[in-house]
Amino acid sequence: MLFCPKCGSIMMPKQEKGKNVLSCSCGYKKENNEEIKIKEVNEREKEREIEVADEEQSLEPLIDAECPKCRHGKAHNWIVQTRAADEPPTRFFKCEKCKHTWREYK
Ligand SMILES: [Zn+2]
Ligand SMILES: [Zn+2]
Repeated sequence: MLFCPKCGSIMMPKQEKGKNVLSCSCGYKKENNEEIKIKEVNEREKEREIEVADEEQSLEPLIDAECPKCRHGKAHNWIVQTRAADEPPTRFFKCEKCKHTWREYK
């Protein structure tokens, strides 16, 4: 809780033009920086989650599949749910050797 430096009353937090501000009944206003900082931390946490997900993608299982580019017989594979959930998921392959990526056509 914060007190107005001008008149000593309790300042109320509120939203103004998308910003968190603390305002007092006397008209004094102050940007609520504390809440903004918390938001920044949350966004950084989100970025970290994305990075972890990317790392997991490189650990896709290796299966027998012929690369259409170099004819290598092993490729990593993973399944991606495209667009609507009622559509069948698409399987993707990535050649172990040349890193060529292709999708499975049914
Ligand atoms: Zn005040
Ligand atoms: Zn290949």
